[in-house]
Amino acid sequence: MCKLALFGGQPVRERLLPYSRQSIDQSDEGQVLSVLRSAWLTTGPKIGAFEDQFAERTGVRHAVALSSGTAALHACLHSLGLGSGDEVILPSISFAATANAVLYQRAKPVFAEVSQETLLIDTTDVENKLTEKTKAVIAVDYAGQPCSYEALRAIADNKHLALIADACHSLGATYQDRPVGTLADCSCFSFHPVKLITTGEGGMVTTNDTALADRIRSFRNHGFSKDHLERARENTWYYEMTDLGHNYRITDLQCALGLSQLPRMLAFIERRRGIARLYDLALEEITAVKPLGKEPERTHAYHLYVVRLELDQLNADRDLVLKALRAEGVGANVHYMPIYLHPYYMEHSGGRPGLCPRSEKVFESLLSLPIFPGMRDHDVDDVVEALKKVVRAFAR
Ligand SMILES: *Cc1c(COP(=O)(O)O)cnc(C)c1O
Repeated sequence: MCKLALFGGQPVRERLLPYSRQSIDQSDEGQVLSVLRSAWLTTGPKIGAFEDQFAERTGVRHAVALSSGTAALHACLHSLGLGSGDEVILPSISFAATANAVLYQRAKPVFAEVSQETLLIDTTDVENKLTEKTKAVIAVDYAGQPCSYEALRAIADNKHLALIADACHSLGATYQDRPVGTLADCSCFSFHPVKLITTGEGGMVTTNDTALADRIRSFRNHGFSKDHLERARENTWYYEMTDLGHNYRITDLQCALGLSQLPRMLAFIERRRGIARLYDLALEEITAVKPLGKEPERTHAYHLYVVRLELDQLNADRDLVLKALRAEGVGANVHYMPIYLHPYYMEHSGGRPGLCPRSEKVFESLLSLPIFPGMRDHDVDDVVEALKKVVRAFAR
């Protein structure tokens, strides 16, 4: 048997394969360069052009671009009128920003269990966590698979709650043949380099609610009633501040990159799906490693390829398996620790071990394998070989 690289053996790969990486081509470079040479680096024409393209592709009335996915979440919660005393139900396993946006509004994040098969929010537990103070639910399309929006919509309508989609993983996916971005009252996207398309940093909100879109546009620009471009067009200096907003603007440089990336989004996702199929097939032979479950009536964008370790078949915990994979040159990762176990949440927001026991248990077994459009089939083979080697070495 081969000795693990972790213990001084020969690694499967010499150079670390990252878990994700952006795909940038020459046309991306050209588009950004042309903005650099233009009159508008920010608040210019590329913002609206990117928003219009994004809205058209998503089949939604309004798309509002912001400086990040986090800003998009914050802008939604603010513009929906959430504030202190309000409760917002969200899944316990997500990126911290999903819950942080609730805290920015001085509202209370209420953590729900996730399914141990799919890591999607458990709609039964959403119902369990409803109180008189509940004002909104945030659904996170974990790894790129849309949540059960039919059930969530029914709960939201019944209790007059806002339904927000954190779609930072699921751009390009569908639910009942409807695109992500149209499935909730508002949907939030991120264009961080690891996400499905990138603008460096950046985010987007989609909604069919015109008044909500207007409030978000104002909120990203200090709460002003008019932006720079509108004032230039109307030949006026005058603007008023009607809300306390932020500088959450995205730049024209970023939107030029987004405009250039958008036409390749479906090709990126197709490649991600191809890699996922290769992993699915390979895992049929590795009993200690299971892919996440797939729900019917939806397509997957595969922002992440997440597996669960069958820890009772192994003499190692997840962290040791991850370390061993990294030593083999495979950049495995973990998405995510239950948010309420972060020290800040334990200290300031009522987090404590045992709050969502099922989520905590599945978290112990989670591992994300590398997946990104630029990965080649031989890279996938390396991951599978390293996984087999590590699992064999730690087999109980
Ligand atoms: C990436 C991400 C965010 C935040 O996006 P940024 O653009 O990094 O601010 C929020 N929620 C989830 C689930 C994410 O994956």
